[in-house]
Amino acid sequence: MVEVRGVGLHSGDKTIVRFHPAEGALRFRVGKLEFRPLAHSVTDTTRCTVLGFEGGSLATVEHLLAALFIRGIWEGLLIEVKGVEIPILDGSAKEWLEALSPFPSAGPKPIQLGEPLEVTQDRSSAKAVPAETFSLLTTIAFPHPKIGYQQIACPPIGLADLASARTFGFLHEVEALRAQGLIRGASLENALVFSQHDFANTPRFLDEPVRHKALDALGDLYLVGQPVLGRFAVHRGSHRLHVALAQQIQIRLEPNL
Ligand SMILES: [Zn+2]
Repeated sequence: MVEVRGVGLHSGDKTIVRFHPAEGALRFRVGKLEFRPLAHSVTDTTRCTVLGFEGGSLATVEHLLAALFIRGIWEGLLIEVKGVEIPILDGSAKEWLEALSPFPSAGPKPIQLGEPLEVTQDRSSAKAVPAETFSLLTTIAFPHPKIGYQQIACPPIGLADLASARTFGFLHEVEALRAQGLIRGASLENALVFSQHDFANTPRFLDEPVRHKALDALGDLYLVGQPVLGRFAVHRGSHRLHVALAQQIQIRLEPNL
């Protein structure tokens, strides 16, 4: 058993996460309830991805799910959570990747997409085209002098090279989000923050924002429930957009859900 403790980004609450080896499909356990992280169970994508289950919800699952995607762990693990939000830790998936290191990659054979799919929302788009391998191209465009247009392609960048990219945000948004009761657990320790014209703290990579967007996309695509081959491209991604694509794929794979 491996245990990780931390606070939730939005709730500020302390949470304990325990990883137990277990037979069958990967699932979460909250209280007595066990459930699989699947796109059709998502109940909110406003600032993070929230999974609903009978009588409760579990927020900010995306960075832990991204680490599971990177490691290829789809089976053999039970994730027990004592709390309502997965801890933010350092704002990236780095510590989740470390916590998962004792557990082997396991899962069904990756499946093929039968046809191209595309989801568009405002000026954002997420596409998936059938291909022999998995690849992800992520682009973002922010009107900020330290961000602008950024692009990252995996491969050649390895998925594991996305893991330490942190959540990012803007100083001017902080007050507005706090007023909504969000980001109670946020600090300069667990996010890359931008002031009006500059970095408010030190970036880990100059393209850390697009790396983090790609990481978020992996976490949300994990909600398909099994590995999928295809050429994925996400422009100006958001949890709402990624989850909509994951839902489309899931419906085609399991039309009875
Ligand atoms: Zn994120």
